[in-house]
Amino acid sequence: MTHRKEHIDLPVASLGTRRRLVVHRFGTPGARPKAYLHAALHAQELPGVVVLDRLVARLREADAAGSVAGEVVVVPFANPIGLSQQIMMEAQGRHDLDTGRNYNRGFPDLIDEVADAVDGRLAGDGARNVALIREAMASALAARRDAREADVLKLTLLRLSCDADLVLDLHSAWEALLHLFVTDLNWPGASDLARQMGAEAVLVDRGNRMMTFKSAHALLWKELAARFPDRPVPPGSLAAVVELRGQRDVDDRFTKPDADNLFRWLQRRGAVAGDPGPLPPPACEPRSADGLRRLFAAEGGIVIYRGALGDRVREGRAFAHILDPDTGRRTAVSAPADGLLYARRSHRFARKGQYFAAIAGDTFVED
Ligand SMILES: [Zn+2]
Repeated sequence: MTHRKEHIDLPVASLGTRRRLVVHRFGTPGARPKAYLHAALHAQELPGVVVLDRLVARLREADAAGSVAGEVVVVPFANPIGLSQQIMMEAQGRHDLDTGRNYNRGFPDLIDEVADAVDGRLAGDGARNVALIREAMASALAARRDAREADVLKLTLLRLSCDADLVLDLHSAWEALLHLFVTDLNWPGASDLARQMGAEAVLVDRGNRMMTFKSAHALLWKELAARFPDRPVPPGSLAAVVELRGQRDVDDRFTKPDADNLFRWLQRRGAVAGDPGPLPPPACEPRSADGLRRLFAAEGGIVIYRGALGDRVREGRAFAHILDPDTGRRTAVSAPADGLLYARRSHRFARKGQYFAAIAGDTFVED
């Protein structure tokens, strides 16, 4: 099959406007493995958009050469609604300005519905059960009727990805190291992804009941396995959030190798034919997301770091201070745990109580 580019219209939200999703499809529909990748669900997180543009170019070549062995679906910018939200030249694409809801929460929770649909029908064959569950997911999604543009967007992204073996959700923080969030169900399954991408931090979580896009996949498989313990229910998908550094890191020196690495990973997983080369060694030990520490400003002021992003920090030792320019007082910021300073807000003014940086604490998980 050749490359197909499609558009999916979203419902008209405001008179005289129309937004649509761009979808690229490669390979043969129904071929396995199926990979699904999208970027910028938080719309101002642009590096993934550039990376997927590069990946699409690589996949077009591969498809023309007949080497897309599975099926690959790419949505290069997953949130045209958020991308349209600009206030005074600043992009505000993380939350829906209509409702204040985070675009990466509130994906359809299909767990009960799918569990009911497959109850009594699961057999002793894991692959068959996966196929049955995927069918039940697709039916549940097909039956849903949402009206709001942002809800239809979420429904559409889940419809495109619900039967995929590999599901990547590309984000970026304000400024950050390249890092991954993976649900425990998919770890160490995703370790080849972490190694191929050169992830400097891997955070293994338990899934988020608020239903992030990743959790809409991972929690469903995790929960179904737990509800039917006497039937084999292997994970039907490997879902991961890849945080491609900071929001401004769109330059070639980052996005070219990232796109190459995604392409190699698709080769490694058999979605694309060809030799991906040797798997690079891990760039970090995986950490539990339980050890993640978000830092909130004890005093309002200007956050001034001693060191750089990616520095190791030590419990109780100051790694930054906050200047109150009114009084001239400088309040030291000590690390709450040993770990890695992996993400920071790029705006350096923090109000009292405001989140300004994150540390991946050294709570390691077993591989
Ligand atoms: Zn994000």
